[in-house]
Amino acid sequence: MQDEAWNGEACHRCGNDMRPEDRYCHRCGVERTYAPASRPVIAKSAAAAVILSIMLPGLGHLYAEDRGTGIMLILATVALTVLGLLLLVPLAVLLVVWLWAMLDAARATERFHARG
Ligand SMILES: [Zn+2]
Repeated sequence: MQDEAWNGEACHRCGNDMRPEDRYCHRCGVERTYAPASRPVIAKSAAAAVILSIMLPGLGHLYAEDRGTGIMLILATVALTVLGLLLLVPLAVLLVVWLWAMLDAARATERFHARG
């Protein structure tokens, strides 16, 4: 039954009159897979989708009701952010160690000379 969809006023199978909020035909019971006709159709702005995508990759797709792509993009963004933190934190620590090593190398030569 799920492939027998319609969005008109009458059931395509039996011709029974449908109210917009009806999910099933009251006469033959076929399920309507279309959204109710009373649901407002909101125009989607490409600019808004792009701005949302800049804020968070995937938000623009969710706005455009491309939920599969949007959720994949958000999960990928979270995963890449976590991986980036895992990799950047050791790199930042390494940078501090490196700077300390450069600064202390000069003092190390002084300590060497102090030992005679
Ligand atoms: Zn029907």
